[in-house]
Amino acid sequence: MSHRGATGSHEHDGDGAGIMTSMPHDFLTKAFHTLGINAPMEHGHYAVGNVFMSTDSNERQQAQKRFEATVHDAGLTVAGWRRAPVFSECLGPVSAGGEPWVMQPLVVCSGAWVGDVEMHRMLFLIKKRIRPVVGYLCSLDTKTLVYKGLFCPWQLFEYYADLKDYTYSTHFALVHSRFSTNTFPSWERAQPFSLCAHNGEINTLRGNKNWMRAREGLLKSDLFEDDLQSVFPIIDESGSDSAAFNNVLELLTASQAFSLPEALMVMVPEAWQNDAHMSAAKRSFYEWASCIMEPWDGPALFAFSDGRYCGAQLDRNGLRPCRYYITRDAQMICASEVGVVNVAPEKVVQRGRLIPGRMLLVDTQLGIVVDDELMKENIAGMRPFSQWIEQQQIRLEHFESTSDDILIDDIPLSADCRMAAFGYSAEQLDMILGPMALHGKEPLGSMGNDAVLACLDTRVVRLPYEYMRQLFAQVTNPPIDPIREKLIMSLRCHVGPERNLLQISEHQAHRLSLDSPLLTLPQLAAIRRMAATKYPSWTTKTIDITFDAALGIDGYVAALDRACAESTEAVEDGCRVIVLSDRLVDDKRAAVSALLALGAVHHHLVAQRQRARVALMVETGEARETHHFCVLLGYGADAICPYMAYEVLAKLHRENVLQDHSIGELVARFQHAVDDGVRKVMSKMGISTLQSYKGAQIFEALGVAAGVVDRCFRGTASRIGGTDMRGFAMAALVRHHRAYGHHVLGDEGEYAWRAGGQHHVNMPQTISSLQDAVRRQNADAWRQYTDAAERAMEQSTLRGRLELHGGQAIDVSEVEPWTAIVRRFCTGAMSYGSISMEAHAALGVAMNRLGGKSNSGEGGEDAGRSQPLANGDCARSAIKQVASGRFGVTSRYLADADELQIKMAQGAKPGEGGELLGTKVSAAIARTRHTTPGVTLVSPPPHHDIYSIEDLKQLIFDLKSANPRARVSVKLVSESGVGVVAAGVAKALADHILVAGHDGGTGAARWTGIKYAGLPWELGLAETHQTLVLNALRGRVVLQADGQLKTARDVAVAALLGAEEFGFATAPLVALGCVYLRRCHQNSCAVGVATQDPVLRSKFAGLPEHVVHFFQYLAEDLRVLMAALGFRTVAEMVGRSEHLRERAGATPVGIDLSALLRPAHSMRPGAATRFERAQDHGIKQRMDARLVPQLLQALQTGKRMDVSTDVHNTDRAVGTLLSYHVSCTKGAEGLAEGSVRLRLRGSAGQSLGAFLAPGIAIDLEGDANDYVGKGLSGGRLAVYPQRASSDVDNNVIDLDGAATSNNVIVGNVCLFGATSGEAFICGLAAERFAVRNSGALAVVEGVGDHGCEYMTGGRVVVLGNVGRNFAAGMSGGIAYVLASNLHKMCNVESVGLVAVQGGEEARWLRRTVERHAELTGSIKARNVIERFDELLPKFTKVYPHEYRRVLEAEAEKEKETETQAEIILPPALADTVTSLVDIEDAMVDDSQLAKRVQRLDKLRGFAKYRRRTDAYRPAHARTKDWQEISARQTKAQLQVQASRCIDCGIPFCQSSSDGCPLGNVVPKWNDLVFRDRWHDAFLRLMATNNFPEFTGRVCPAPCEGACVAGISEKPVAIKAIEAAIIDHAWEMGWMQPRPPPLRTGRSVAVVGSGPAGLAAAEQLNSAGHLVTVYEREDRIGGLLIYGIPNMKLDKQLVARRVDKMRDEGIVFVTGAHIGATGRPAADLLQSADAVLLATGATWPRDLAIPGRQLEGIHYAMDFLTTSTKRLLDGQPGALSAEGCRVVVIGGGDTGNDCIGTAVRQGARSVVNFELMPKPPTERAVDNPWPQYPRTFRIDYGHEEVVAHWGNDPRQYCISTKRFIGSSSSGGDSNSGRVTGIETVRVEWTKGDSGWTMQEVAGSEEVFEADLVFLAMGFLGPENAVLDELCVERMPRSNVKTAEGSYATSVPRVFAAGDCRRGQSLVVWAINEGRQAAREVDQMLQRECGQQMAVGFSNLPVSGGVLCLEHFEPILEAEVEVKV
Ligand code: SF4
Repeated sequence: MSHRGATGSHEHDGDGAGIMTSMPHDFLTKAFHTLGINAPMEHGHYAVGNVFMSTDSNERQQAQKRFEATVHDAGLTVAGWRRAPVFSECLGPVSAGGEPWVMQPLVVCSGAWVGDVEMHRMLFLIKKRIRPVVGYLCSLDTKTLVYKGLFCPWQLFEYYADLKDYTYSTHFALVHSRFSTNTFPSWERAQPFSLCAHNGEINTLRGNKNWMRAREGLLKSDLFEDDLQSVFPIIDESGSDSAAFNNVLELLTASQAFSLPEALMVMVPEAWQNDAHMSAAKRSFYEWASCIMEPWDGPALFAFSDGRYCGAQLDRNGLRPCRYYITRDAQMICASEVGVVNVAPEKVVQRGRLIPGRMLLVDTQLGIVVDDELMKENIAGMRPFSQWIEQQQIRLEHFESTSDDILIDDIPLSADCRMAAFGYSAEQLDMILGPMALHGKEPLGSMGNDAVLACLDTRVVRLPYEYMRQLFAQVTNPPIDPIREKLIMSLRCHVGPERNLLQISEHQAHRLSLDSPLLTLPQLAAIRRMAATKYPSWTTKTIDITFDAALGIDGYVAALDRACAESTEAVEDGCRVIVLSDRLVDDKRAAVSALLALGAVHHHLVAQRQRARVALMVETGEARETHHFCVLLGYGADAICPYMAYEVLAKLHRENVLQDHSIGELVARFQHAVDDGVRKVMSKMGISTLQSYKGAQIFEALGVAAGVVDRCFRGTASRIGGTDMRGFAMAALVRHHRAYGHHVLGDEGEYAWRAGGQHHVNMPQTISSLQDAVRRQNADAWRQYTDAAERAMEQSTLRGRLELHGGQAIDVSEVEPWTAIVRRFCTGAMSYGSISMEAHAALGVAMNRLGGKSNSGEGGEDAGRSQPLANGDCARSAIKQVASGRFGVTSRYLADADELQIKMAQGAKPGEGGELLGTKVSAAIARTRHTTPGVTLVSPPPHHDIYSIEDLKQLIFDLKSANPRARVSVKLVSESGVGVVAAGVAKALADHILVAGHDGGTGAARWTGIKYAGLPWELGLAETHQTLVLNALRGRVVLQADGQLKTARDVAVAALLGAEEFGFATAPLVALGCVYLRRCHQNSCAVGVATQDPVLRSKFAGLPEHVVHFFQYLAEDLRVLMAALGFRTVAEMVGRSEHLRERAGATPVGIDLSALLRPAHSMRPGAATRFERAQDHGIKQRMDARLVPQLLQALQTGKRMDVSTDVHNTDRAVGTLLSYHVSCTKGAEGLAEGSVRLRLRGSAGQSLGAFLAPGIAIDLEGDANDYVGKGLSGGRLAVYPQRASSDVDNNVIDLDGAATSNNVIVGNVCLFGATSGEAFICGLAAERFAVRNSGALAVVEGVGDHGCEYMTGGRVVVLGNVGRNFAAGMSGGIAYVLASNLHKMCNVESVGLVAVQGGEEARWLRRTVERHAELTGSIKARNVIERFDELLPKFTKVYPHEYRRVLEAEAEKEKETETQAEIILPPALADTVTSLVDIEDAMVDDSQLAKRVQRLDKLRGFAKYRRRTDAYRPAHARTKDWQEISARQTKAQLQVQASRCIDCGIPFCQSSSDGCPLGNVVPKWNDLVFRDRWHDAFLRLMATNNFPEFTGRVCPAPCEGACVAGISEKPVAIKAIEAAIIDHAWEMGWMQPRPPPLRTGRSVAVVGSGPAGLAAAEQLNSAGHLVTVYEREDRIGGLLIYGIPNMKLDKQLVARRVDKMRDEGIVFVTGAHIGATGRPAADLLQSADAVLLATGATWPRDLAIPGRQLEGIHYAMDFLTTSTKRLLDGQPGALSAEGCRVVVIGGGDTGNDCIGTAVRQGARSVVNFELMPKPPTERAVDNPWPQYPRTFRIDYGHEEVVAHWGNDPRQYCISTKRFIGSSSSGGDSNSGRVTGIETVRVEWTKGDSGWTMQEVAGSEEVFEADLVFLAMGFLGPENAVLDELCVERMPRSNVKTAEGSYATSVPRVFAAGDCRRGQSLVVWAINEGRQAAREVDQMLQRECGQQMAVGFSNLPVSGGVLCLEHFEPILEAEVEVKV
């Protein structure tokens, strides 16, 4: 069994081994007597044990004295000591370093024999009392003796000479070998313990410990009486999980309350909750047991003995193998494997295995094997448990109210302040809460979580939940499948007071039983009424966890103290239920976080030993996401009533947002979604029952201060410190203040980037710059990319807080070349299926060109990919992944890899399986994955061949056999403890370890998993590197980091923290075109990356060279960094973390990253700190290796190979290495059948025939262990009992077809992931047979639990009974089962049970059974054949629904193809399926359109429907008036347009860099319009934009240029939707004046009433300040009034808006020439608290050429102003174009407005000069998306000229040389009025220094002109007011402010808009006004002190987000906070 254990860095350093035997009386008597210790030693009347003592003799003597005194105090005597003789020389260095002095005390009665019970009572007290003082006591008992130590198993007998003494005899031996992966190995942690040994892991340990501590307050024992107090704590905190289990087991048995089997039944119960077939008595026992203790949950096989009983108990999942033989001479040999002891086959009478949840028990006194069923029924029958449950247990339905009413107030949701107070966001409603209530499931997300860590977020207020990261199982303890294996999971819990654990009584069952931890409002109300109704003793105390907000932080902390004190009082008063409630939140009272309150109270009660006396419930408005509930439960909540979430649903229902279901249904679905979510989170940690999960604290705190952890989350890992209680208090106060001061429901970009919101690693700038850089090899763009990416990292990640430093810089030329560096790079595991073949292959080609590695992902890979392409490229993935789904994992696939990567966990969703929707499973993908097209593929969360580190070690062994050339990598995900896991993985002989971060991308996962599982790789990598170095294991493995690596800096940090290779996933994908749509799971990726839709795939524009360029740039950057640090190679950098330090001031208060930065090389000097030598996989010693020469010869000669040999359980993976050679030589085809035959005899080791290739057959006569035929790839296996076995004849069949034999011949997980081939098993297979079989044929004679689970193909014939959960998740293939229990055991969720048809199907079945008989000699098979016709009706065909549907559809299609040449779709269907349909084109009437709108396809709308903007009125008609030129579309038309919005993960349209400067939340309002929720759309729009009626008309819509749909189609007509929303709002009367509720008393003067001034005024007024706007013109509006003609913006709209603002309290003063001829600016500054200059850039650019002084030459703005005044005032103006030949010089909007105005005024002709060339019709190469497209466009003015004169007015490349005039006196062309313009054509050429212009000789031309308008832009602001205020200016004359600020050089004077920014768009001006207002507000708030004195503004940043920019500094300064 040594192959199952671990060896450390030295081959003599094991992880621990030991043995428990019965007391070797003869031996000990002799041994003690030899020492002269002659105390009487009557067998069973003395105790001996091994004690690990100090090697220091003084200390040891002291300890011995203390030991003797303790023994004496207990009433016994130490008769003498004996040193156990040991052989220390056999120890390895680590083991020897901690070697103890092993002493054996002989403990006897002081007087007469006291009896067995009393003796054991005293021994128990001694063991508990001496624990801390004398050393470690392995055991001290009268019946058993334990020897153990830090050994490999073989050293146990070398070390302890006693064990080799021939007089040492025992009637049992329990041997354990440890493979440590959750704690460091030590002498003490070796096993067995005093009662048991444990193979597995207790996942619920923290909870079990806490609950035991809590229970101590209730414990009483008649046996121990007052002595009981002296044994507390029951659990030794320093011990391992197994030791803790042993502690409790010892208590239960020593107290005599439980027998050993009873105690085990209580602690490790069967999965009784969902087992309908369990007897009522046994079920009642378990139900009673669940009232007294939660299960100790996790994968576990316990072997135990108390000297009389020996046995083993398997956990409910059965995740550990346990096989046994019973022999004729009454021996039982039970072990993890068969074959560990040689037994002659004829001696074996039974071969069995332990079934999940069952106990194997031998009573050595009676000499019998106790039947599990009988024994448990006996125990269950010993007391009337059923009656106890019935009479005592309280169930909610006993008193629950039937009403499901939710009482809600009248306040609309949008005005409900509590939502903001509890931190709700609009995004959560849309993305999480709404979908959960609608669909009963948590929604899916994709592409991982790249948002800023909560502890680093200085912008947005975060809840404490967001700091808690879910831990998950990897390697040592597998996750559970919460869907397919739900039957072993349960949310049922008993709450309320427990009773004395040690006194079995009916009162223990008197608890409240809840089926779900989520309470509805009526349920909570009913619980509160319990005392008043049926249960008078069940009093409830509600503890208010709100506090007076005016008390600030102190109030928060005091509320926590009060809650703890009140909880103690409540318990002392006899309360049975405590409800922590934040119901009283209102404008005065803020709430303590329910999580912190719960954690504090729970731990307070645990510490007081009161927790077990009361149920602790939470009534909170805070919890609404699955994660929130999980955290609350994990920290001890018994039940949660999320009243606010329910009320929100009710209000959403009332407001017709969720109107399709009743409120009751919505609540039920929401609860269902939460329950499922909780199950999923539990399952990730391998926990089956909520009872065990509750309080188990399976979280790591990321960024929480030690004080908070100690108080609320005691025992939780928090490695980097962080936010303290003051911080959390402040956050709560800020939320509360904001909610009640200025209610805005946040929308902060939590799930996806949005402008102004939470920082994300991926954002518009990084994506667009990267694509530009790699496509055009644009170095500038690369620099922009790295700058943006590094900024993003600084803001969002831990590594961003670090900087590189130190070292002696060298010249970069000395650094290794980039071509060497890129060999260390690889791309992430993205499967073909999740991404398109185009993208997948491009990655492969790129990485092969570079010499790096691409990763196949888990979808398999066609062999054709390995063939070179015509140009010499190769698209093969060097890394082949082996994941839980095992799709396409064949011998050929494995043989063709350079690296085989075992995916233990995935960064974005550790602990979860993947899912590929049927829509993405195309024929090609199905072929690659060996599945059926169209059938959804689900990967199970665990690898079914890895349930322990031993299993992982075996898989590594298998893979190394399947390809000895490839290195085997294990992919882990960062979490606390990953270092220890990695050490185990290194000991398991992995060659390579990948530590992935939490933030990696993924195709699809539930948001809870994406956001809250896993930790940053920085933590995991540092921990792993340090641990490996400390254990001298680092040199054996290559270490890789992966997770959102973007830049050379990231790579440098990873290298310095210990990585030597680097994985990139999203960055190369972005280089290929990914734009982070986050809809990978929907098959609708618009850029063809993550889709299988042929139309969308055709849009893929990526090339391998893009990826190559990316890595080249990156490697070159890295070289520069390396040179600066003085490193010549990456290898030199690895682990040199002394070159990293925290950036000064970068890390938020409390965060300490120093633990990460401890250089590992200083921890264990001399140990390897990077990969040095390859692991020794012992390939040459394998059986296969001996056979390979024969095989190679056979391959050469073509002769058959036939070998017969004995086989042992140490011969593992037999046939796998041979298959490798076959696959390498013959490819996937393999050999012809019968080419190679191995005839084996004996007990085969694990993985017999794994990945067996075609042409190889293995016949095994004997039995085999786990994983027979794993990944079977075309070979054939036959396993049958040895002919001499006594049990063979048992294998017959009864009339019902049930197996009568329990002859288990093969172990667990056989045929897992088989893809083809055959297996014939003559006997029973254990658990999980043929899981994920996708193509093999198997015949077996009975299977254990979970047979055929997840099967997707192939055929399985079962001639016998099946275990539970048969066919769960089976989506393909067929099973034929002859079993009497199938209907009982089959999971029919995805399969149907149908009769077997006659005909071909029956004939096939018969032939198959005949073949089975022939190959295995099966008696049962012969039996079946003999009675085939009789038995045929008893066969059941297990037929997956989806598979059947697809097969039938295919058959139907074939038929149709034969009969029909062409299918003509009915017209009604045609427009829904044809791509690129313009729905309006087929529109008939409104009702039809409405119907079609309901059918709109929002997933592919961008490609299906046409872009439609607001249409202009006909040009001829519109130029006759001054009305607006365009007309709005109908609502239905706009809904169609809105359906084109992709709702991208990164909405580029929102980005201020290229999209909307305001950060308008375009996708959100598009979505709301699509859903016909116009009012909500209006609210969303107004949150970011003050004046959408202006921007919706005049904005040039950069958002549309950045629209993602525009990459491959036309962009969405965003502007049209925006204009329609606001117009509709005005029509509906939603735009009403809303004066601010409070006035601050501060005043602001705004100079200028253009868009910036107006926006600032409105914002400042809304913040409560008194605002006066000064305008020099006669009307308010500035540019909006006089700069834009009426046909573009109706002036009534401006006036309407100004009126509304006036009604809201803003004062407007017109004709106010501030600082010029009017009021002095200084006067203004004196009278107002702040002055905001928004005077615009009105100083027009002139054209200083000859003739400029002529009459008729005007600035464009003068013309437009005059024109508008004329229109508004009805007065004829002096300046008119009527009858004139007009020339407009300059383009742009102003030029076009001049054209349109001139046309309307009746110009004779209009010409427009443009100096620049005519723009291209499509984007130029240097104008890539998402930049504003500089393309040729026909604006309204141009169109009107065309309509009037037939030609476009624009002349390009034309330079104006001179104005020609006609003097009134005649003759002088330079005076008088302009008559013409002399021009010349120019040519533009681009050189290195930019564009140059040259005049074209001979191109001179004169244009006649009567009027010339200069529309060449503006130079800057006018000076008067600036001069007067002495405001500093920039060289280009605009106002100078600091970057990102609006404050000028003059205190209290601010500037916004064009006067600051320079000439720009209206939308930019509005944004300037908004942001300047925010800064002014911040200043005023700080000064006025009416707000919380934190100096933040309630005005939002761009994107409408409230931001905390000034929060942190105030905290640092510890400013007193007052409301
Ligand atoms: S304001 Fe302009 S850029 Fe912003 S969404 Fe509207 S049209 Fe687009």
